Amino acid sequence: MIPARFRHVAPADLGGCVAALAEGGRVLAGGTWVLPEMSRGESAPAQLVDLRRAGLAELTATADGLQMGAMCTYADLLGSGPVAEHAPLLRTMAGGITGGWALRNQATVGGAAMAARPQSDVPAALVACAAVARVAGPRGARDIPAAELFAGAMRPSLAPDEVLAGFRVPSAAGAGSGYVKLKRGGSSWPIATAAAVVRLDAVGLCTEATLVLGGVAAVPVRIDVSALLGRVVVDDDVRAVTAAVADALPEPWGDVLAPASYRAAVAAPVARRALSAAVADAEEERA
Ligand SMILES: Cc1cc2nc3c(=O)[nH]c(=O)nc-3n(C[C@H](O)[C@H](O)[C@H](O)COP(=O)(O)OP(=O)(O)OC[C@H]3O[C@@H](n4cnc5c(N)ncnc54)[C@H](O)[C@@H]3O)c2cc1C
Repeated sequence: MIPARFRHVAPADLGGCVAALAEGGRVLAGGTWVLPEMSRGESAPAQLVDLRRAGLAELTATADGLQMGAMCTYADLLGSGPVAEHAPLLRTMAGGITGGWALRNQATVGGAAMAARPQSDVPAALVACAAVARVAGPRGARDIPAAELFAGAMRPSLAPDEVLAGFRVPSAAGAGSGYVKLKRGGSSWPIATAAAVVRLDAVGLCTEATLVLGGVAAVPVRIDVSALLGRVVVDDDVRAVTAAVADALPEPWGDVLAPASYRAAVAAPVARRALSAAVADAEEERA
């Protein structure tokens, strides 16, 4: 039960949500994070601005990728043809979310991004996909690359009166992807995640390589793997670019799941496995 009284509004469009939020309160998406916090008395907003009726659940192919509304759920990602074609990394990520179908049907990608939890699967996956967030607020709309969307642990870079409308995701069709996470057990949050995208040309030379780690710092960490470009990537190359991953972590994240020292220690092997998987997938795409 939620102990404090609050006003609930569910505007019929994004403009209405922005106008309502200008009067204060908190956005409500799937509610899987907000409502437990309110039930525990950790948050007592005077108003909840519910996005459910605002038309933010579109998931469509565009000329160069994907348009993904903030209210898309993990189940939407898993059931989407355009996601399978243009953003298979997001599909793999969604398939590994715990909490069962109740959670996958309710929790939204936008909500996970705005919760900005370091252990979450979503932030690093969005950065690896080079997603660009569309944000609406009283001062107008703006675009924020996913890499700039996370200002710190539990701190998205939106102003409190802004609403995340959705993401543009450039197409990764023809590229290979790899997603690996280390968890304590089947139902636990990730300790470390790694998301990789690799593209090879017709003769097998690497033309694009991205590697982003999650869970190991307050915000997603992009690892420089540009040394792979222009090469036929072999295992030793993958080892070489992931060997010093721990040094690239600004300040390793630690929490009840695992201390910072453990996360720093596992970052390199998790990164290596994701990058190897992306290279293998890219080779299959090329074949
Ligand atoms: C049982 C369980 C298992 C889970 N397992 C995993 C897991 O394996 N991996 C993982 O990464 N996560 C996991 N999660 C977390 C889950 O992904 C998040 O709780 C969920 O995605 C949040 O989305 P929501 O729509 O419910 O957000 P809400 O709870 O509605 O909102 C979350 C926060 O974001 C804000 N917000 C939401 N949408 C917007 C918007 N469009 N614009 C601005 N602000 C917004 C809200 O105000 C709130 O602060 C799990 C959660 C549960 C309960």
